[in-house]
Amino acid sequence: MNAPVLEIRGLDVDYGLGDEAVHAVRDVHLTLHRGEVLGLAGESGSGKSTLAYGLTRLLPPPGVIRGGEVIYHPDDGEPYDVLKLTPRQLRGFRWAETSIVFQGAMNSLNPVHKVSTQLIDVIKAHEPKSTRVSRLARARELLTLVGISADRLESYPHQLSGGMRQRVMIAMALALEPRVVIMDEPTTALDVVMQRQILGQLVELRERLGFSVLFITHDLSLLVEFSDRIAIMYGGRIVEQAPAAQLYKDSLHPYSDGLLHSFPALRGPRRELTGIPGSPPDQRAMPTGCSFHPRCPRAFEPCAERVPVLGTPTGRGDPTRTVACWLHPAPEPVA
Ligand code: SF4
Repeated sequence: MNAPVLEIRGLDVDYGLGDEAVHAVRDVHLTLHRGEVLGLAGESGSGKSTLAYGLTRLLPPPGVIRGGEVIYHPDDGEPYDVLKLTPRQLRGFRWAETSIVFQGAMNSLNPVHKVSTQLIDVIKAHEPKSTRVSRLARARELLTLVGISADRLESYPHQLSGGMRQRVMIAMALALEPRVVIMDEPTTALDVVMQRQILGQLVELRERLGFSVLFITHDLSLLVEFSDRIAIMYGGRIVEQAPAAQLYKDSLHPYSDGLLHSFPALRGPRRELTGIPGSPPDQRAMPTGCSFHPRCPRAFEPCAERVPVLGTPTGRGDPTRTVACWLHPAPEPVA
């Protein structure tokens, strides 16, 4: 595995303060490696988007980062904690080192400005010494990079299809050649064919430009196809991490298993679609012990009492896999 580019260590994010606080992200440890596509999956409300907003420090109030570190490893220089950057340093970090593509391109693009203006604004804000001619040339290049004809620079967002708007957002995210691109459900509003086209293109761009991607979605079938590794989140915690192919073939956590049996098999023999009984937990009243136990078909004696710790499962001898489940006791918790 390549060297890490972003390490999330023990991140805790709450909404609100004191006894009323909702613990949306709990003690999350996650590492994104250079050039990798890391998928993050889970149902709505599992804490995926809160994690993305927390690590980029874009959390809207009443979101509060209660603890942990987000260590960024630059190409040159010492690693640093993103959570400790000053507002000025943070402005330099965003877009240039890490960019984020949000859900719903129509809401993210300004409807009253042409695509050219919006792309040029991003370049100008971070490279104020660049000339108008060079900014325009870069905007044309970026649009072509994501498969849109440069003629569309003079279009307004409403003149583009949903897929094109999402591509414009990806072009914007790549404008300053960041090393990390975070994508929060970027293709949810698009049809399945368009989703796959855009993701295929993203993976191809990653290979050409060498950035890393943290791809967040509730659709595990997409991640199985396009990610190198997958992390599964439930009740604000990471409950399993594995290389994508291994997770698909042999998931260890019953929740991952439920997610995998919620969509038809892409290849190989057909399998029964079972889904997951019940609903995601209410973050204001989380179940005791393993938060999945009220829905888990394999729950047993310790599950309702003790919180399982994420670690390398005993006897697997595979350090690339981690799971938090009492079915697979972990001798080496993730630190
Ligand atoms: Fe199910 Fe228990 Fe594992 Fe939780 S710890 S997923 S309840 S078996």
